[in-house]
Amino acid sequence: MTSAFETNLTKAQTCLARFQDQPLGHFIDGKPVAGAPGKLFDNLSPIDNRVLNQVSAGTAAEVDAAARAAQAAFPAWAALGGEKRRVILHRVADLIVARAEEIALVESMDTGQPIRFMSKAAERGAENYRFFADRAAEAGNGLSLPAAEHLNYTVRQPLGPVAVITPWNTPFMLSTWKIAPALAAGCTVVHKPAEWSPLTAMLLAEIMTEAGVPAGVVNLVNGLGEEAGKTLTEHPAIKAVAFVGESATGSLIMTQGAPTLKRVHFELGGKNPVIVFDDADLDRALDAVTFMIYSLNGQRCTSSSRLLVQRGVHDAFVARLAERVARIKVGHPLDPRTEVGPLIHRRHLDKVLGYCGIARSDGAEVRVGGTRAEELGTEGNYVRPTLFTGADNRMRIAQEEIFGPVLTVILFEDEAEAVRLANDVPYGLAGYVWTRDGARGNRVALALESGMVWINSENNRHLPTPFGGTKASGIGRDGGDYSFDFYMETKNICMALGTHTIPKLGA
Ligand code: NAD
Repeated sequence: MTSAFETNLTKAQTCLARFQDQPLGHFIDGKPVAGAPGKLFDNLSPIDNRVLNQVSAGTAAEVDAAARAAQAAFPAWAALGGEKRRVILHRVADLIVARAEEIALVESMDTGQPIRFMSKAAERGAENYRFFADRAAEAGNGLSLPAAEHLNYTVRQPLGPVAVITPWNTPFMLSTWKIAPALAAGCTVVHKPAEWSPLTAMLLAEIMTEAGVPAGVVNLVNGLGEEAGKTLTEHPAIKAVAFVGESATGSLIMTQGAPTLKRVHFELGGKNPVIVFDDADLDRALDAVTFMIYSLNGQRCTSSSRLLVQRGVHDAFVARLAERVARIKVGHPLDPRTEVGPLIHRRHLDKVLGYCGIARSDGAEVRVGGTRAEELGTEGNYVRPTLFTGADNRMRIAQEEIFGPVLTVILFEDEAEAVRLANDVPYGLAGYVWTRDGARGNRVALALESGMVWINSENNRHLPTPFGGTKASGIGRDGGDYSFDFYMETKNICMALGTHTIPKLGA
């Protein structure tokens, strides 16, 4: 009998064949565009580091063509109105759902993310389109601010062509999270996906075109960050940059966009604490702690990569955690049983493994993992889920974003120390608090320097809520109306009632 794994493999090969026949180019002004001859780079498979396909490294001329197409398409798309955009964006969602299996298989093969998580990528992407589609008609709504002799009202109007630059960790979901609100708002888009995971962005561009998004409204340029990405962020036609990626890249983009005064929205790195107090529901906390760092290969911005545990439960909790971590199933991303797949790239594998040496030399214990998963061979980027214990918050494993299936455990004594340790990092994206004392949960949530806090929960998605970080984790918020605030300009209109005195000069 054929296993689900074998079936997935066969189907994935069929889905990938088209990318192997010819290099992956761009999608500009409603049609696929081959990149400049000879300007290609290899997209490597996380599973065995063989060349999965070749990708065009977008040039300044190609970025310019995409930005101009977005500029030309903007007036008509903005004028179309939210109601008509709503219908088109719902059609995008329908087509994403229709191609859900293909998206999941291609995403898994391209990123190494386990199919058990990627099978939901399309569903979540479709939800993003539906959510913002339903708000498109009202996105322009503003406030009425009457004065004594003047009426003031505000409206929001789309900004213009915007850049969307995405990372490699969950590329399809993140692209939809950025592109859907931009389109709903009436903006046009140039998307530059990450060079390590370019495939599903092309599927999304095709889907949007088939759904009736007019030519030029969404454009895709593949390529390297320092070339295609940089040119895009400097382009005068581009009004804003929505960027998801590393904090250091965010700084570069801010500099690159300065001469043209780009509006920026940054979703950057994290070193998110999960705080477990003595009185927590430890069974639920254990599930959440394990899930929030070892799901999605730990390549997740909101992963709880620092576990702060109170002394009273520390030893017992960490012992149970270590057992769970040792049992996590590492394997091929298309195997439905796999919980952790191969890391995205050999360079990333080396970085993650490098932290095991750093942990030891800084005096922490590598309690579980810390090596490659040798039983899966050495061709792929497989690493054992890793648990560092006995760490101090000043160690590099507690301060730096590792972005892999690696958790650092730190002991604390009381609430004040937990808050101090939680905040003592450069980042401030998310925090998680586990306690049965509701007042304490809220006190700690208010004291954490982060954009989002979950009390007694893992990261739970609710699209109207603001998503984003503080400190080195980002600028701005996505979600609900917050996304429209970024992609739209607020205008105040003031009309006199004809009664006020106008100052007279030269009268
Ligand atoms: P990265 O910053 O290396 O790359 C992200 C994107 O930026 C890529 O498309 C890349 O080509 C492009 N880029 C690189 N240099 C550029 C430049 N000079 N100008 C313009 N574009 C440039 O990030 P990554 O390694 O792909 O992704 C991992 C990072 O993303 C982690 O730090 C993670 O925390 C972060 N992330 C954050 C969130 C969030 O919501 N806060 C979500 C997912 C990932």
